[in-house]
Amino acid sequence: FPPERIRNFSIIAHVDHGKSTLADRLLELTGTIKKGHGQPQYLDKLQVERERGITVKAQTATMFYRYGIKEDDAMENLSNYLLNLIDTPGHVDFSYEVSRSLAACQGVLLVVDAAQGVQAQTVANFYLAFESNLTIIPVINKIDQPTADPVRVKAQIKSLFDLDPADALLTSAKTGQGLEHVLPAVIDRIPSPPGKCDSPLRMLLLDSYYDEYKGVICHVAVVDGALRKGDKIASSATDHVYEVLDVGIMHPELTPTGVLFTGQVGYVISGMRSTKEARVGDTLYQAKSTVVPLPGFKPAKHMVFSGLYPADGSDFDALNHAIDRLTCNDAGVSVSKETSTALGMGFRYGLSVPQEYGAKVISTVPTVPYMFEYADGSKVQVQNPAALTSNPGKRVTACYEPSVIATIIFPSEYVGPVITLCSERRGEPLEYSFIDCQRVLMKYRLPLREIVVDFYNELKSITSGYASFDYEDAEYQQSDLVKLDILLNGQPVDAMATIVHNLKAQRVGRELVEKLKKFIDRQMFEITIQAAIGSKVIARETISPLRKNVLAKCYGGDVTRKRKLLEKQKEGKKRMKRVGSVDIPQEAFSELLKVS
Ligand code: GDP
Ligand code: MG
Repeated sequence: FPPERIRNFSIIAHVDHGKSTLADRLLELTGTIKKGHGQPQYLDKLQVERERGITVKAQTATMFYRYGIKEDDAMENLSNYLLNLIDTPGHVDFSYEVSRSLAACQGVLLVVDAAQGVQAQTVANFYLAFESNLTIIPVINKIDQPTADPVRVKAQIKSLFDLDPADALLTSAKTGQGLEHVLPAVIDRIPSPPGKCDSPLRMLLLDSYYDEYKGVICHVAVVDGALRKGDKIASSATDHVYEVLDVGIMHPELTPTGVLFTGQVGYVISGMRSTKEARVGDTLYQAKSTVVPLPGFKPAKHMVFSGLYPADGSDFDALNHAIDRLTCNDAGVSVSKETSTALGMGFRYGLSVPQEYGAKVISTVPTVPYMFEYADGSKVQVQNPAALTSNPGKRVTACYEPSVIATIIFPSEYVGPVITLCSERRGEPLEYSFIDCQRVLMKYRLPLREIVVDFYNELKSITSGYASFDYEDAEYQQSDLVKLDILLNGQPVDAMATIVHNLKAQRVGRELVEKLKKFIDRQMFEITIQAAIGSKVIARETISPLRKNVLAKCYGGDVTRKRKLLEKQKEGKKRMKRVGSVDIPQEAFSELLKVS
């Protein structure tokens, strides 16, 4: 297949608008998968794993398609186009993954639900594709629905994206209506890959994953030249050289072809030991040749961090193992070890890391990386609030926190509550417009800290589920931040320290202290719970002493009952974390997560 006969494209959509269903229909239409194969959407195979918390991946498939050949043509039985569908995750947190998938495409199908219309992730995905200069084919899907209103969606596409509504395809991935126009539009409108066949090999590493039997499998896009089995390839990022042991296409399973030509997308197995060697965005080339590396794409950001500790300290090895497996399978994950005086050894991990770990863990209040500037001009980034110890020699002169630009789309009758929510969360309004006569688009600058805890749920609940939300990272902004300590009997609990905005400190301190009071059992001595900023106590509760004896209630000789009670008490103890002499139940930590 010469590059002119190749098309590389993605499907992008707001969640649930039908991306996976449409992808499946296209794979069926081209005979890549069998119709009604009874399995969940093929490209969602990995999505299921994603939900189980194993991996976060974009998946790719190659299809062969006949187009524009006359019936009596000699090539009658041959496909004449090779189409690579590069799947992208639809979730709001994965815009980085979307942009890395788009790096191998020349065009996208922008799927919009005919009843729901344009939503926040439609807008976000549109801009990712637009900024990459890709051809955008609007697809208005679910036209079979009784509430479908393609005319309204066309108007939105025109007003928001300045796309010609006449170019929109109308489909139902459910009934099959209109699907016959999709691949012809891909071929007619999306340019073929621009690489040079006679130049030395340059290929982009799109993704990698670890297979127990085959080792590290890399997804690659061959930009220039060709790649053959037996070739020696080098990495621009690491200078390591590998021998190509196997190369082929995903059709949709790994199908060895022995070679990948210019413009093709496929897989390479080359004896890499760990996915850490496979840097996503890296350029691979023939060893000993000299090439200019391709522009990669921006590295994964993990802006939201949370501490992670085994509930039972002796489980640290198991947690360590689980985290090793995660990082082995996704080089983009960032995790570092840390030690808390209250919780023992644990980790600080990027929040996009899901939890695949059997035993119970304690997850600390999510934090974002704050920046503190000192009188001497030095700046430190603080990931873990406990690390910000007050240093009398160094005076903090300014604090900064990361912000995001949020896009929210919702029916106009909810304008009031949405504005209230955003201003409570310290948002700054940037844009307010109607995308049609019923729906409003608002843009806000919000501190990242304010959206990581429960913002989306809150937004959904005040708009009866109608709001959609997406955000992109923006720069650091100066902010009036303070460190809020929680003290038990005068001793700070580092895992409960948070950094909060000064205006919210009083309320948050009060709430944390009240919550804790509910969760900590009375003990044989009095317990004081305090919230403090530096040496200033801003909230205080006490738990009066009580002698707790579970056996007190059962006099008499029933030994088994006594033993059961004692065992139950022991079980309960296991879930406790002892700070000084105070036991804190694990539930307290999860409850504290909800305070912001
Ligand atoms: P994704 O989140 O964009 O991948 O969306 P899915 O492909 O998972 O589809 C979301 C839901 O919409 C599923 O229940 C699909 O069966 C349904 N769906 C997809 N396409 C259509 C369509 O054209 N018409 C109707 N009525 N339902 C559809
Ligand atoms: Mg899907």
